[in-house]
Amino acid sequence: MGNETSMPLFGPLAARAEERVPNSKTFDFIIVGAGSAGCVLANRLTASGRYRVLLLEAGPNNWHPWLHIPLGFGRLFTDRRYNWCYETEPQPECHNRNVIAPRGKVIGGSSSINGLIYIRGQAEDFNHWRQLGNAGWSFDDVLPYFRKAEDNERGADEFHGSGGLLAVSDLRDRHPLAVAYVEAAVQCGYPRNDDFNGAVQEGAGYYQTTMRGGVRASTASGYLKQARRRANLKVVSEALATRVLFDGRRAIGVEYLVGNSKRSAQANVEVIVASGAFNSPQLLQLSGVGPASLLKSYGIDVIVDAPGVGDDLNDHISGRIVLRCKDTITLNDAVRTWPGKLWHGSHYLLTRRGYLAIPAVSSAVFLRALPTAATPDSQCSISLFSAATIGGKLHPFPGVTGNCVLLRPESRGYVRIKSAEPRQAPAINPNYLATQKDRDTITAGVAEMRRIFQTPAMARYIAEEIEPGAQCDNDDELLDFIRHRGSATYHPVGTCRMGQDQKAVVDERLCVRGFSALRVVDASIMPCPGCAWSAAGIGPKPFGATISNLAHWRRQLLRASRPLRRSRGRNQLRLTFARA
Ligand SMILES: Cc1cc2nc3c(=O)[nH]c(=O)nc-3n(C[C@H](O)[C@H](O)[C@H](O)COP(=O)(O)OP(=O)(O)OC[C@H]3O[C@@H](n4cnc5c(N)ncnc54)[C@H](O)[C@@H]3O)c2cc1C
Repeated sequence: MGNETSMPLFGPLAARAEERVPNSKTFDFIIVGAGSAGCVLANRLTASGRYRVLLLEAGPNNWHPWLHIPLGFGRLFTDRRYNWCYETEPQPECHNRNVIAPRGKVIGGSSSINGLIYIRGQAEDFNHWRQLGNAGWSFDDVLPYFRKAEDNERGADEFHGSGGLLAVSDLRDRHPLAVAYVEAAVQCGYPRNDDFNGAVQEGAGYYQTTMRGGVRASTASGYLKQARRRANLKVVSEALATRVLFDGRRAIGVEYLVGNSKRSAQANVEVIVASGAFNSPQLLQLSGVGPASLLKSYGIDVIVDAPGVGDDLNDHISGRIVLRCKDTITLNDAVRTWPGKLWHGSHYLLTRRGYLAIPAVSSAVFLRALPTAATPDSQCSISLFSAATIGGKLHPFPGVTGNCVLLRPESRGYVRIKSAEPRQAPAINPNYLATQKDRDTITAGVAEMRRIFQTPAMARYIAEEIEPGAQCDNDDELLDFIRHRGSATYHPVGTCRMGQDQKAVVDERLCVRGFSALRVVDASIMPCPGCAWSAAGIGPKPFGATISNLAHWRRQLLRASRPLRRSRGRNQLRLTFARA
């Protein structure tokens, strides 16, 4: 184990570290959201010791053991203590279902509850961002930051780094079903791929995960734990930011709630919104930055009419099939009885191995479902368990799940406030399957995944396909099944999109257009999710890629802000705060 394990023991120590920070209401930076991005930011911005940083997080501390045990992802899907437990608006192309949309609400954000899969996306995705005009975001530009972030147990090479704060490791054990799935994909003609984050993504192989020594490596454990020892960082958990405060077009602070008590803090240099793809646009809209007609309809004063805020929500949808296995070798069987639970629990405690150390999916094939695709458009994985509903009780029989993710969805939706009350969830509409191409691709991807499960290496383990079942034997029925049972893969992006066009919310330095001293730095800035699980690889982990860019632009912004901090600053700010 390295120096960054994250078991709950460090909790009380971290709390004492918070108390060391002066009880100031004035900071250089205020970061809203201690999630994947926010924790990295908090680390980087406090590293020099020169800047006082306030990190606000709506959720509680990450002390609960299930936030550190990998298998905890299954328990946390529906746990309102650590999860916003959002649901989408009824999805017209999914038989008007409300699809569950979990998001972490805890120190570490979604990186504390996610599926622990380390996939950062194809070079083509980043090169596409660059082609959209976003200088500094091509694959060659971001690769050094990915490498800097990583502490990959395989060591450093052209694509990977070691010694970073983000632990990346191979599966601790290769389960026979995960092995069989890879062999089946090879029998179907796919090449083996030893590294989905290497030269190419296409092919069949095993995932790397964000774990260290069998323990979840969230950005809270990798980045924030270290930063919390610094006296210039103040972390306030269970603090819900309710609006960004402005002096004209300059962000000067944040108003927030702790319980029912309203507080505010001022930022001399910048306010950085890092609240995730659902909550960042919500906070901007509540602050008067968003579509004017929407804001006016809830009585919110419009500071800037910004129609792009909340628009272009884009998320991966997946089609899941369930198969009953012949032998009792799945997670379903391992934890069905109390003796089983005890045995596997003890095994994990003693070895950090076994079922409690598995990620959401174990092995995969990245493939081109549509013949026209130049690079993989589908990611088909196997999970070593099955359940009737996501996060629900495991089936009482041996079962596995096949999961096909549509990698480059065209469909776009929105996030819009439904009230001026910050505690009320926004309307979330990813508009799944709105385009014919999305429907064609996912149908072809799921069909191909079914073929892999029927190939000899895998078929010898499978008794029958439960969902959709053998009676589903044409594309129309398969698409209908996906509409009924398809689910999110929890990688929403695009709602504060980076770009050069009129509707783009932030520029390539992630500065909010039309404002000074205000940035959005989280998955919401990504123009499209591409072929990554963390919302294109930038999300939980290599968010270092984005954030490390901070090191570059931080120098610019501090240079720019110095005169203001010395002369204009404090009196004006105090006045505004007195009014706020
Ligand atoms: C169930 C699940 C499984 C996933 N599986 C994987 C996976 O296996 N691999 C992978 O790479 N990615 C996975 N993802 C996606 C990945 O975790 C996210 O894309 C990524 O964490 C997003 O990072 P973020 O910084 O944008 O937001 P988050 O990490 O969600 O952080 C936002 C933070 O802001 C806080 N916040 C929100 N509003 C406010 C407010 N008003 N005031 C104060 N704080 C606020 C939130 O509580 C949260 O802590 C998964 C996500 C989920 C939910």
